[in-house]
Amino acid sequence: MSQKRFLTSKPLPVVKPERGGDTSQSPSSIPNFLCFCLQGLGANGIRLTMESALTARDRVGVQDFVLLENFTSEAAFIENLRKRFKENLIYTYIGSVLVSVNPYKELEIYTKQNMERYRGVSFYEVSPHLYAIADNSYRSLRTERKDQCILISGESGAGKTEATKKILQYYAVTCPASQQVETVKDRLLQSNPVLEAFGNAKTLRNDNSSRFGKYMDVQFDYRGAPVGGHILNYLLEKSRVVHQNHGERNFHIFYQLLEGGEEDLLRRLGLEKNPQQYHYLVKGHCARVSSINDKNEWKIMRRALSVIGFNDSEVEDLLSIVASVLHLGNVQFAADEQGNAQVTTENQIKYLARLLAVDGSVLRDALTHKKIIAKGEELVSPLNLEQAAYARDALAKAVYGRTFSWLVNKVNKSLAYKASCRSTTVLGLLDIYGFEVFQHNSFEQFCINYCNEKLQQLFIELTLKSEQEEYESEGIAWEPVQYFNNKIICDLVEEKFKGIISILDEECLRPGDATDTTFLEKLEETVKNHPHFLTHKLADQKTRKSLGREEFRLSHYAGDVTYSVAGFLDKNNDLLFRNLKETMCNSENPIINQCFDRTELTDKKRPETAATQFKNSLAKLMEILMSKEPSYIRCMKPNDAKQADRFDEVLIRHQVKYLGLMENLRVRRAGFAYRRKYEVFLQRYKSLCPETWPTWDGRPYDGVAVLVKHLGYKPEEYKMGRTKIFIRFPKTLFATEDALEV
Ligand code: ATP
Ligand code: MG
Repeated sequence: MSQKRFLTSKPLPVVKPERGGDTSQSPSSIPNFLCFCLQGLGANGIRLTMESALTARDRVGVQDFVLLENFTSEAAFIENLRKRFKENLIYTYIGSVLVSVNPYKELEIYTKQNMERYRGVSFYEVSPHLYAIADNSYRSLRTERKDQCILISGESGAGKTEATKKILQYYAVTCPASQQVETVKDRLLQSNPVLEAFGNAKTLRNDNSSRFGKYMDVQFDYRGAPVGGHILNYLLEKSRVVHQNHGERNFHIFYQLLEGGEEDLLRRLGLEKNPQQYHYLVKGHCARVSSINDKNEWKIMRRALSVIGFNDSEVEDLLSIVASVLHLGNVQFAADEQGNAQVTTENQIKYLARLLAVDGSVLRDALTHKKIIAKGEELVSPLNLEQAAYARDALAKAVYGRTFSWLVNKVNKSLAYKASCRSTTVLGLLDIYGFEVFQHNSFEQFCINYCNEKLQQLFIELTLKSEQEEYESEGIAWEPVQYFNNKIICDLVEEKFKGIISILDEECLRPGDATDTTFLEKLEETVKNHPHFLTHKLADQKTRKSLGREEFRLSHYAGDVTYSVAGFLDKNNDLLFRNLKETMCNSENPIINQCFDRTELTDKKRPETAATQFKNSLAKLMEILMSKEPSYIRCMKPNDAKQADRFDEVLIRHQVKYLGLMENLRVRRAGFAYRRKYEVFLQRYKSLCPETWPTWDGRPYDGVAVLVKHLGYKPEEYKMGRTKIFIRFPKTLFATEDALEV
């Protein structure tokens, strides 16, 4: 494993007590400064007596959980979070992992002045902050020329997207500038309002919930200036286009367009201002949201489109598609005498024909008929009402989903680094959906939670496991910490032939009578003995009551989730009837034309199913992340009411559990809190021992052995590894640092 962030010789933590929410103090203006670092303090090294450190700690908690006396206690962990949250200190470390609690209010900690404080300063020399993580990654990228990634995780509403945006802003402000770089910075920042308009929506959990996963690479040139970028998007929740749960909305763009679009534009698109007119916008019964100003957002989005490089006609093409989705939603059918569906809303077809630039009668036919090619012959059969409604919704989802991917592509073109001959380094930001458990969980939750299992696997691989591996490679004996390795669940989902996705695909490909129920039966047969899998039939009498006959339950690392199989086959197949595809391929709207490729019609090979596509794109993502040095930001939400100053302990406890924070801390603390290369340790403390001062001629290992003996370290306080000294308790370091001062 090449990723050993925690094992490198990066500067050790320096902990500075915070004063309430005041983070604008520069380190040198604080009279006392608690530090137990062994290197990298230099002129900034201001010290705090143990006494005043303790007083600060009582009030605001510790800023690194590693310092908690009772570090195995979940209650102590949560109490520390609570104390800090109360003081508006929303960031806390576990070693180099940043834990963040959403304040649900504006804090004065994201100012330019504050950004400057974090610039070029050693990782822990200032209070915990996103900027410290951002700056540290940036500096590693610059000095070690090693690609970095910042992985931001947490459940919906925990603050992942806000964190991503703040990190981008940090780079935009602090990285070197030039005319060309300014354009890139602008585009990087402006990609957000565009992708959020099309990919975010109001949900019950978050008024600006990202309904797609996003991984964004920022490329830096040899001077450390951002010169390009690239975005990968994952699984947009397309079903939202045609249906929203109570209290939720469709994607923001629809409301922005109706609310903010100029009269002329709306007239051209055949739209009325009132969202209540559109079937696709009324299902959630909440077109207006008090926290969202659609009109304003529209302006921001429109400006952003220009920055990204859209010209007027491209904007018109794009908005025509948005409008066409609304018109599609209003297409109605009635049954003729034979029960066949007939379009009753001619007006909508007229608009659709214009907006999608297709032949109206062909579209009308395609919405009410199904064409299949069997043995080289075309067979056309009429659809009944239900099938026609299904075809209409499928078209709306396909048009919107593909347009979203097109949009990401367009953004990528505008971010592409032109001078590709120069070598660049890359910093990736991952903002991807957190673990989801709803009352009713379907295919989407299954994919999202699988994604979280994969990310947890990566976290285990890169932190917990590598931490333990370092002790092994350094030849240091210690009690391994038990942690749950969720590989078993990843395998259950993704294994070839036996995994849930394989079985689902098999059912999707099986001609004839495959249904969601036969899929469930197959699952029961194949994975019945798996400890993390359960169904009504497999459960014992007691548990059986909690499981429906059309459900299966997975015991995820983060908890049990019961999935309803209804719709699994359909969503996985993600099929669009052939004649609808054909119609779209003939579209003269340039965007639609690019989204629907003719080869789809002639290609004999079946397209990959949605789950397999997702699985493959996740595998690629894991590869990308594994090749970079990771930093972690673990986001939490303090309450479900989106309110400031409310700390719901039950909710927090749940998140602490499933983010694996206690395990993370235990591993960090179980062994040795601090470690340093012999050369570095000796260099800093050699003055404390007459035998090592002013120079030590022998091996650094021997020098350190002499030094610590002189300092009176007890055997249980430290261990000598192959290349590093490991120190178990922070207090040992306090004493050594104190000795330096005397
Ligand atoms: P989802 O998974 O649904 O996309 P998320 O983790 O991306 O959720 P955000 O959209 O980043 O969540 O945050 C939700 C809301 O919480 C924001 O719209 C904002 O109001 C508030 N919020 C998040 N982080 C901060 C912060 N650091 N300061 C102030 N408010 C914040
Ligand atoms: Mg988000």
